[in-house]
Amino acid sequence: MAAAKFDTPALKPYPVIPLIAEGAMAHSKPYVATAKIQEAIGFPGELSEGWQDRAITRMGELLGKYRSLRVYMDACVHCGACSDKCHYFLGTGDPKNMPVARQDLMRGVYRRYFTFAGKHFPKLVGAVDLTKDVLDQWWSYYNQCSECRRCSVFCPYGIDTAEVTMAAREIMDAVGLGQKYANEIIGKVHRIGNNLGIPGPALEDTLLGLEEDTKEETGVDVRFPLDQKGAEVLLVTPSADFFSEPHVESLIGYAKVFHAAGVSWTLSAKASEAGNFGLFIGNYEQMRKIALRIRDAALELGVKRIVVGECGHAWRVAYSFWNTLAGIGAGGKDPFAVELQSQLDGRYKQPTHICEFTWDLIQRGALKFDKEKNDHRVITFHDSCNVARASRMGDFPGGQFVIPREIIKSVANRYVDMAAGTTHEATFCCGGGGGLLTDDLLELRVKGALPRMEALKSVADSHGVNFMATICAICKAQFSKVLPYYGFDMSMVGGVHQLVSTAIRLGEPN
Ligand code: SF4
Ligand code: SF4
Repeated sequence: MAAAKFDTPALKPYPVIPLIAEGAMAHSKPYVATAKIQEAIGFPGELSEGWQDRAITRMGELLGKYRSLRVYMDACVHCGACSDKCHYFLGTGDPKNMPVARQDLMRGVYRRYFTFAGKHFPKLVGAVDLTKDVLDQWWSYYNQCSECRRCSVFCPYGIDTAEVTMAAREIMDAVGLGQKYANEIIGKVHRIGNNLGIPGPALEDTLLGLEEDTKEETGVDVRFPLDQKGAEVLLVTPSADFFSEPHVESLIGYAKVFHAAGVSWTLSAKASEAGNFGLFIGNYEQMRKIALRIRDAALELGVKRIVVGECGHAWRVAYSFWNTLAGIGAGGKDPFAVELQSQLDGRYKQPTHICEFTWDLIQRGALKFDKEKNDHRVITFHDSCNVARASRMGDFPGGQFVIPREIIKSVANRYVDMAAGTTHEATFCCGGGGGLLTDDLLELRVKGALPRMEALKSVADSHGVNFMATICAICKAQFSKVLPYYGFDMSMVGGVHQLVSTAIRLGEPN
């Protein structure tokens, strides 16, 4: 199918709320998963007779299970504070991309089937039947939310549209309407161990190649170990780190940090993926199954610490859910979780983010840098949504904002922040998060990147910024694709550990 033609929005010198463009993105829909993809991960293959009843039943189950969802359905007062906060609304002008309107797509159905007024006086309270037309709107607009949670920062009631989106996707999956991109990837993780479908032998080859390349670059034997029993650290990182540019530059950076600090570490073929797309489709069973691979790998390898590489949503899952999903941390109570908790070293945070790991070493003076090696770069930092608004780092409030910036300033001389209101907890999504990083949604991705591109242009013009660092594999992939649409060079995005890699001293070459 030929890609839809669209115009890239013009960059403006200051943020402008767009004119309303009713239905402007109604055509934007991801590819539907085939029956084979759906059934491989336990969902019905396709929509079939009786889907409405099954959808309402599943919605009732979710409302019973997640009190937050029921509160979000009831609490909105339509104050409008969230309406201009979504990058997809700002980039497209489609009013259904206002967070409140996105929620209302589900709220109308909720009122019809789960409230007294909606059952008896539907027109009075805006209650709607779950028809095929309504389902089509769900399919379109719940696949135009990157679950970034920016809108919830501005909602006086703390309503989290991301949770509403996750519930909608879970209901759609439950009746056989699944997203090809996300569900195909989940199947690959179960079958092969990672999102990209790289089998163990290919991974081993890739890592050997990286050892050779790094030796050539530095003269030092930096190892990239795989399935090394008895290593201190298990590194779980997004599979994009294994070969895609610029991701692999960060993997080389992690390896150099472990080498310079003298810490033994390993990757795992079984758990060769930090990403967990179960989060994106709102399905906790999938999320748990994916997380359990990491527990199994940690137990088999006998490691003492689990460190997570540069991946935004993976860090959210690790930080917020691994404890109860898999007993990494102190939540799980089953025998394997208990065994893992006694195996892991209690002196360290479990799991640890690679930025926490590196920052701790920097603070203790265990790493040395030649900062001027980064002098060709004027750097800014893009806060990734799931790190900024759904997790933390370090042992102080705001650590997730401070630590990556402090690492950058330790390894480079030229750093500039983008405008307030576009960073920290108010950061704008890259436009490709939440399971939307697929070319069938390219128009949405390009338009949704507009607010970040405007903030970047501002510091590029005022300070000559030529490098945007980030700690998320999805942000890196999304920006590599959309930067050229806005006249930037795709190579101006990269990881924090790419900068570390450039400046770190490794000791004498062998
Ligand atoms: S994409 Fe982000 S800002 Fe937009 S509705 Fe979804 S969670 Fe809210
Ligand atoms: S800010 Fe909150 S209460 Fe106000 S319209 Fe948006 S979701 Fe509703």
